[in-house]
Amino acid sequence: MLDKKNFYINGAWVKPNSSEEIKVIDPATEQNCAVITLGNKADVDLAVSAAKDAYESWAFSSKEERIGLLEKLYENYKKRWADIAEAITLEMGAPKDFATKLQAGTGASHIKSFIRYLKNFEFEKPLGEHAPNQRLIYEPKGVCALITPWNWPMNQVCLKVMPAIASGCTMVLKPSELAPLSSMILAEIIDEVKFPKGVFNLVNGDGATTGDALTSHPDINMISFTGSTRAGALISQNAARDFKRVSLELGGKGANIIFKDADPEAIERGALRCFRNSGQSCNAPTRMLVEKSMYDEAIERLKKYTENFEVGDPKKEGEHIGPVISEIQYNKIQTLIQKGIDEGAKLVAGGTGKPEGLDKGYFVKPTVFADVNNDMEVARTEIFGPVLSVIPFETEEDAIKIANDTAYGLTNYIQTQDSKKVQRVARKLRSGMVDVNGAGIAVDAPFGGFKHSGIGREAGEHGLEEFLEVKAVGGWSN
Ligand code: NAD
Repeated sequence: MLDKKNFYINGAWVKPNSSEEIKVIDPATEQNCAVITLGNKADVDLAVSAAKDAYESWAFSSKEERIGLLEKLYENYKKRWADIAEAITLEMGAPKDFATKLQAGTGASHIKSFIRYLKNFEFEKPLGEHAPNQRLIYEPKGVCALITPWNWPMNQVCLKVMPAIASGCTMVLKPSELAPLSSMILAEIIDEVKFPKGVFNLVNGDGATTGDALTSHPDINMISFTGSTRAGALISQNAARDFKRVSLELGGKGANIIFKDADPEAIERGALRCFRNSGQSCNAPTRMLVEKSMYDEAIERLKKYTENFEVGDPKKEGEHIGPVISEIQYNKIQTLIQKGIDEGAKLVAGGTGKPEGLDKGYFVKPTVFADVNNDMEVARTEIFGPVLSVIPFETEEDAIKIANDTAYGLTNYIQTQDSKKVQRVARKLRSGMVDVNGAGIAVDAPFGGFKHSGIGREAGEHGLEEFLEVKAVGGWSN
């Protein structure tokens, strides 16, 4: 079992004040694989105080210094790529190839992308040619609390840590207590790169104790949070007391609208996007809306595809999916699958219980429900497991109405060869992202949601601006 009890505070690995431990469980074996410390208020105070002291000079560090350090960080990240992927497989069960290419890979892509945006970003510029004495100055928001979930650990951590560094903020990262190991490798990399002391700090712990102490701390100026809508609401309440800036990336219940002229792979591609990462992606297309005239064919194809979809050991190479994160999550998914059956949705593939031959580990059967009505719980709740709900529709207006009839608004999907239809529908979907015909959303495109899916945008230039306040100065002269 790995001993990961220390925190990274003020440029050094330190023994925590708290002696309370949390065991990290490998979801593929249900065994303890590491132990971390549950940070208390004294640990949080120490980390925030280090970040606050460091802010005084880091906020005024040059762009060249930040670029230089981020470039070194990127080089060292690449050297530790395999370690990061291995840690992700261990802590949250992403299969080896997926963890290497996508989980660790998106982290690297974000580092590279933020370096590029930092190089091109103008921190000071005139308001416009019409007002040469009006200056805009973009300043770091201050000391940031960065709180992340377990489902895409390095992706989410890099989406916050890199723009925070690039903007001149200082930070305390609290990664998910379920998947903290990859973040601790990132802290080792940051230590090797030798950032000024206190710019980056890491404290482990749960939401109720450590997360709450961080988000209610009076010296935190900004909270960047990715996680559940439930926790996002609690964090917003803490932030409201002293007007902390808040950026929230929350849940989703994406609709994938399949028109009858969709390309031949659209159905299987949609199922894969839903099942990938064991269904644990906020932007997964978990409601498949299929035009009536091709509905029966789609259900047949989904049945065949899902019955042959491989679930297996994440330590093994291949394109299969691994377990879900925890026993709690496993049980929640089982309850929701049962609920779908009880509500009268037609079980096409999968169902409750573990896949054959996988008795140990939190493995879930990829599951497809047909004849789902958008009012059913399987269509409304974010299940966060490999469960697809298929809903028939008659007309374009019908499809848009069903897609938008949800509390969430993160990513919706359109499959059609008709470009005019794409444009009409994309304009009407109430979501932060619309992915057409499997094109994907660029790594540096603004990532975030409407409605209960959150506030703000991550990635690329928008992600950098999240960490900046704009100041207007009138009467500026050169
Ligand atoms: P979670 O909300 O339980 O936990 C996320 C993080 O918040 C963890 O670090 C946790 O310790 C912390 N936390 C929990 N309660 C807290 C509180 N009261 N105060 C402060 N911190 C608290 O979510 P999870 O189960 O780890 O992650 C899954 C959720 O994340 C899903 O709903 C998913 O859709 C969402 N998610 C959203 C995006 C996005 O970009 N929109 C990306 C990935 C995941």
